[in-house]
Formats: sequence, C-alpha cells, structure tokens
Amino acid sequence: MKYYSTRDKAHARPCSLREAVEAGLAPDGGLFVPERIPQADMAVAERLAGESYAALAGYLAALFFGEDIDAGILQREIGRIYDFQVPLRPVGSRYTLELFHGPTFAFKDFGAGFMGRMVGLLGGADEKLVILTATSGDTGSAVAHGFYNVPGVEVVLLYPEGKISRLQECQMTALGGNIHPLRVGGTFDDCQRLVKELFADSSFRAAHRVSSANSINLLRWIPQAFYYFYGYFRWRQAAGGESPVVVVPSGNYGNLSAGMLARRMGLPLGGFVAASNANDVVPEFLRTGDYRPRPSVRTLANAMDVGAPSNFERMMWLCGGDADALRGELLGFRCDDAMIRRTIDGLYRNYGYLSDPHSAVGYAASVACGRPGFYLSTAHPAKFGEVISPVTGAKVPLPPRLAELVKRPRVSEPMAVDLGALEEYVAGV
Ligand SMILES: *Cc1c(COP(=O)(O)O)cnc(C)c1O
Repeated sequence: MKYYSTRDKAHARPCSLREAVEAGLAPDGGLFVPERIPQADMAVAERLAGESYAALAGYLAALFFGEDIDAGILQREIGRIYDFQVPLRPVGSRYTLELFHGPTFAFKDFGAGFMGRMVGLLGGADEKLVILTATSGDTGSAVAHGFYNVPGVEVVLLYPEGKISRLQECQMTALGGNIHPLRVGGTFDDCQRLVKELFADSSFRAAHRVSSANSINLLRWIPQAFYYFYGYFRWRQAAGGESPVVVVPSGNYGNLSAGMLARRMGLPLGGFVAASNANDVVPEFLRTGDYRPRPSVRTLANAMDVGAPSNFERMMWLCGGDADALRGELLGFRCDDAMIRRTIDGLYRNYGYLSDPHSAVGYAASVACGRPGFYLSTAHPAKFGEVISPVTGAKVPLPPRLAELVKRPRVSEPMAVDLGALEEYVAGV
C-alpha cells in the first residue's frame, strides 16, 4: 500500500508506509491517506468480532499493512496491544462503547499502542528516532506508554503547563527512561504549532530523524477505525437495529475521521455526531457552512480543547473535498461546561454511573440526537475525579495501577513557546 498527502490530488508523490509514518505530516502540509481504502468482508469481520477485539483488529490491520508487515507477526503484536476489554454498556436510555480500559485508561491507547509496536516492526533502528508529540493530556500518556522502552526511540512530549489534570501529568512524568516530558508555558495550540513548525524546518529534519505520534500520524489514525466495527457488531447484538449513528466526543477529530474511514471500508453506519465542548468550530461549520478555526478556550473536557482541528482536512478528503457531503454525514452538537456538569450529575444520580467529562459530552449529544446507535466513551472517570467529585459528591476510586503511579516522583522540564529552544532540546535528547 502506498500513501499520499491529502493535498496531492494527482498522486504524484507516493510514500511507503515507513516514509509516511516517519514524516508524520506530509511535506506539502497535508495529512497522509492510503492510496485506496480496502473493503472489509463483513461476514469475516463479524465472526472475528465474536472471538475477540484483537482477532478483529488483526484482520482489519492486515488489509492495510499486510504487504509491509508479516500477517502472523502483526496478529501476534495486536494480541499483545489489545489485551483488555472493550465493553458496550447500556447507560440510561443509550449505549456506550467504553474505550477506556487500556493501559492509560483513555481511548488514545488504541492508536498509540498500535503505533509504538508497529514503529518497532518497521525497522530502521540503526539510527536514533525521536518521537515528538504535542498533547492536551491523554495523548501524552498513551504515547509514553505505547513507546516506553521501544529500542532506538526517544519520546519528547509537549504539554501546556497547568492545563492538564494531575493524573494525566503523572502518567507522562513518572515513567522516565526514554520518555522526556516538557511543560510548555502556553496553550495546547501553541504546543501543536511548535511541533508543526519543527516538522516544517527541512534543514533541521535533514540532520535529525524525528517523527510525530500525534493523531495526525497514519499509524495512530487507521487503527482507530477498527473499534467502530467492534462497536457495530456489539450494538447490533444488544439493540438489534441497523445503521447506528455513532456519537464521537471530539477535539482534533482523529477519532471521528477514523469512523468515517471505517464506513468507507464497508461498515454500514448511519452517520456520526460531532460532539464538541465549547470549542465548537466543527458543529458551527455544520450549521453555517463556514469553517473558522480559532484559538481554543479552556473547558472541563480539556482533551477536547482544540480550536483548529488537524483532522478536518482528512474529513474533507474522505468526502472528496465536498463540504456539503461532509455536512450530510455529520450532525453537530455543542456542550458547554454547565451542561457537562449537569450530565455528569444526572448520570450519577439516575443510574449510579460515573462519567468523565469527555464521555459526558458524548452522552448529552446522544440523548439530544435521539437516533438509534451508541456513543464513544473516551476516558475513565478515575482520570477526572477532580471534576466529578465536586459535581456528584461521590468519591471516584482510582484503579490500583493509577494509585501506584501517583506515588512516583514527577519529572519534567520547562519549555518556552520557542522553536529554537525546542530544536536544541530535541537535538540533544
Ligand atoms: C483526545 C481525546 C478526545 C478527542 O479525540 P480526537 O480524536 O482528538 O477528536 C476526546 N476525549 C478524550 C478523553 C481524549 O483524550
């Protein structure tokens, strides 16, 4: 399989998987996409979904990566990455696919764990590779965990100081080894822009092997398509309907655009709800037809505080550049902090269900949409006790793995919003 930039309409500059993964962002500023979208055999997929998540994911991954990585090795690695439950649960009148039972308790484990292992398999470990990632919270811990102790790889993480939760910070700063967290005096958008600027600096990149692990990266993006299949089969079993609408709590839109990819692989979904917090640039676009990226504002669902979503370009590509087609495939929903609090409170009081603020946006959107389907739950409530407890009065128990982590020393370094300083750090890591 070859990969192209979203902006390379003529398919003039093909890249191998390894080239596309290491480049992260395409040289022309676009995002990498596959030359064609493979079609899944739904009967095979359904049978494998009945076996395990890993069996289904192995089959779907081979459709993309089977020419680059031996199918047996791929399946073995995937069995190791996805060794946790992916339950579909009824919550109130809705269903949710809980994607937060992985090693760092957030859905980003699906993409980051996959990428870490695959980069190990793609080779080229003769020269040190630096993985550089901007994070609004959960990405950093998932990437840190996904790449922890992968030989030949150093990981540099940029996060906005004071704008992520203590637990999120602990998950990045307690590992040490090949994981190097930087606390940046700025917003997530500043962090993301710095990373983009470094990748755009061709002379720096000629001298240093650097790569991104953000949700723009192909190896983060594609495996996120696989849980839509799993959720679909689980939901059909539980609810017995057809064409479910999937509600996706969104920030950078890697998750939602992966759902659109799954649909184009042949998964018969009824569409999507782009569920945002107060950073509603996509719901606004769906309503008005105007796309106006802007600085992000801070909310309770901070991993979704994105004002200029990188994957918008992939969503447009998936719709052949037709903005009206995109508007036909997605519904928009905006949930402000007051509604997030009300939803968290209501879920606990009515159903005894503890919900993190991001998943609460999903629930609120799912109720408002009212169509048959399910919403994605993206983080474990234990990661957001500081939001949930004041609202519900309930104590949110920490899973033992997290409780152990908080006790370890936190180590990170300060970083200014300054490209020169970042390049110096990356060169010396
Ligand atoms: C990253 C994240 C999101 C947003 O996902 P995108 O793919 O960036 O749209 C939602 N919820 C949680 C908990 C996250 O960590």
